[in-house]
Amino acid sequence: MEISNYLKIKNKIPLNVKLLAVSKGINFTEIKKLYSQGQNDFGESKTKEAMQKQLIIKDLRNINWHFIGKIQSNKIRKIVQNFEYIHSVDSYEKLLKISNVAAEENKTPLIMLQVKFSFDPNKGGFDSKLLLEKWCDMNKFKNLKIKGLMTINPRGLSSKENIKLFKKCRKLADELQLPDCSMGMSGDWEEAVEAGSTWLRLGSIIFGNRTN
Ligand SMILES: *Cc1c(COP(=O)(O)O)cnc(C)c1O
Repeated sequence: MEISNYLKIKNKIPLNVKLLAVSKGINFTEIKKLYSQGQNDFGESKTKEAMQKQLIIKDLRNINWHFIGKIQSNKIRKIVQNFEYIHSVDSYEKLLKISNVAAEENKTPLIMLQVKFSFDPNKGGFDSKLLLEKWCDMNKFKNLKIKGLMTINPRGLSSKENIKLFKKCRKLADELQLPDCSMGMSGDWEEAVEAGSTWLRLGSIIFGNRTN
């Protein structure tokens, strides 16, 4: 990882857009390097890998850990115990379980609901109609705070197509009066900014290619 590269990207991002450094597959020494540059938000997609790194660097203050991976029900307790943000909540049942577990653990995780705006059998996410149907119920769940929506665009779209899908996410978040949109990865973050992203999830563009 080149620090100068990180700083260059950081400088290009508008001030109202936050940068989540996706550190999955990346060694803790690299996380420490970025932390020393003022990066406090790190994203991981596997609980076991994340907890190993969290233990090693537990003395670093004010790190916010974000869970961005597919949520397995049996991992929800570990996720609630070890992450401040959960970006990848893709069903009513998982949100309900997060709420119940958070009450037991005395936590209040910040939540992004993952929504799918195009057909993609390999990706999770609420259908937007279903989300609207369930919204009133979900918005009442205790011991969590729904901050926004998260979406992942399919690969290989044109710039225009990316913007169009990201704008759908922004529009739905606005309708639900949610401040945050977690959208934009290394290949499409500029389009996401244009469409109103508030959290960019950037991995390879910062750390270089990872091993997994
Ligand atoms: C891996 C991952 C990212 C980062 O991807 P890059 O293309 O390396 O920036 C962002 N979001 C999610 C959900 C991921 O799994």
